[in-house]
Amino acid sequence: MQSKRILVTGGAGFIGSHLCRRLLAEGHDVLCVDNLFTGSKDNIIDLFDNHKFEFLRHDVTFPLYVEVNQIYNLACPASPIHYQFDPVQTTKTSVHGAINMLGLAKRTKARILQASTSEVYGDPEIHPQPETYWGRVNPIGPRACYDEGKRCAETLFFDYYRQHKLEIRVVRIFNTFGPNMHPNDGRVVSNFIVQALRNHDITIYGDGSQTRSFQYIDDLVEGMVRMMNNEEGFVGPVNIGNPDEFTIKELAEKVLALIPESKSRIVHKALPQDDPRQRQPDISMAKEKLGWQPEIKLDEGLRKTIEYFRTIIGRA
Ligand code: NAD
Ligand code: UDP
Repeated sequence: MQSKRILVTGGAGFIGSHLCRRLLAEGHDVLCVDNLFTGSKDNIIDLFDNHKFEFLRHDVTFPLYVEVNQIYNLACPASPIHYQFDPVQTTKTSVHGAINMLGLAKRTKARILQASTSEVYGDPEIHPQPETYWGRVNPIGPRACYDEGKRCAETLFFDYYRQHKLEIRVVRIFNTFGPNMHPNDGRVVSNFIVQALRNHDITIYGDGSQTRSFQYIDDLVEGMVRMMNNEEGFVGPVNIGNPDEFTIKELAEKVLALIPESKSRIVHKALPQDDPRQRQPDISMAKEKLGWQPEIKLDEGLRKTIEYFRTIIGRA
């Protein structure tokens, strides 16, 4: 494969840090741009010695002038507690960030991939969710800054594609987990593992019957790279997720079974407003167009993630 100059926005975050590693392993020059709002230099510390890696602290809501061949646009807080901390900035990051990165792609003629989300489907009435489903999002609720920001970013991508003939790629990422997740970001997998390792109560919101489909990080990165590099002009949007669906209660039980020394108990807390009842990707399109499907089962991914959290919270 020919070596490229690749920009990864949000590269110091959970997904971005894995993507940077993968792209460096393929021999590319990687420019990681991040304002470190939720990301951390710790996630990329081992890359600083690599002469093909550069880190730039920058907020994507401001224009960026660099020369690149490909752009992965991941910059955006992704967990509800972080994206609701400063909702106006969240919308700005998605919308102004998309405009700035699309402008950069237009000037440099770079191919650009948007990290969109299953949240564009909102609390869905269709199950599993195919890409043709337009979604059911509350436009004025507490999740709207993220969901509508991401929906607007998709709109911008497709308008730049139609109007300016940009080479776009859009992936809709479903719940993903793995090492480098922020231990306090409030997402369910990291919460349950950290709670179990610390012998704290496992907090199930609501009765735990809501479902999610959890994908391990390595499967996602493979799907993103395949999508970016497809030469058939397939622009998406394409769902990238693991269709194995679990209730949140089942997830809590699995985590406890994998950490048998834990003394944690399961407790129930109020369900957050607009929490989607169920979520499962229809991945027929990814299979057909990219020859992609997830390989890593939930238990295997959880084991690897538990090992990571054991080391970072000092219980190894
Ligand atoms: P993350 O919070 O770990 O990473 C996001 C990164 O973006 C962080 O490093 C953060 O500092 C950076 N960032 C935030 N605002 C920025 C700004 N204005 N300028 C520059 N950098 C900024 O989250 P993640 O899970 O790695 O998510 C990465 C992307 O994938 C996000 O766009 C998210 O919406 C998308 N996504 C993630 C999931 C998931 O399950 N993890 C699911 C769907 C979509
Ligand atoms: N959740 C939970 N306990 C927690 C954190 C989350 O029961 O400590 C639930 C949450 O209400 C949601 C699901 O787990 O139903 C997934 O939440 P997360 O924030 O990880 O992702 P999202 O809701 O964005 O899919």
